[in-house]
Amino acid sequence: MDNCIFCKIVAGDIPSNKVYEDDKILCFRDIAPMAPVHLLVIPKEHIPSADHITNDNADIVAHIFATIPLIAKAEGISESGYRIITNHGDDARQSVKHLHFHVLAGKQLPENMG
Ligand code: 5GP
Ligand code: ZN
Repeated sequence: MDNCIFCKIVAGDIPSNKVYEDDKILCFRDIAPMAPVHLLVIPKEHIPSADHITNDNADIVAHIFATIPLIAKAEGISESGYRIITNHGDDARQSVKHLHFHVLAGKQLPENMG
């Protein structure tokens, strides 16, 4: 989709620090990490946010969640733990309107999520 930063990363028009890639999804390091490990996992297909997940596109979300444990193992964070977050809309402060799952790890994360 035009003017979508993450679609440009998928297309290779904007560089990223890639951690994992297959034909459907991409994982790369967040440019402004909020934890020692801060990954973003995205579908290559443009889906605006979690509010746009339907039975027609939910397969990609299942694939993302089936792949995160493999990525976590490679990153060495399976045992210590990690947090998965996705934001939708202004109140959640979604800044990039392309569905993405933050994977945060590498320290004890804040107790307060809201
Ligand atoms: P949101 O606030 O939408 O949930 O998260 C968007 C995330 O994307 C932010 O954590 C931000 O740092 C990250 N981000 C924004 N632009 C870029 C970029 O060009 N490259 C990378 N690697 N991360 C980005
Ligand atoms: Zn996009």
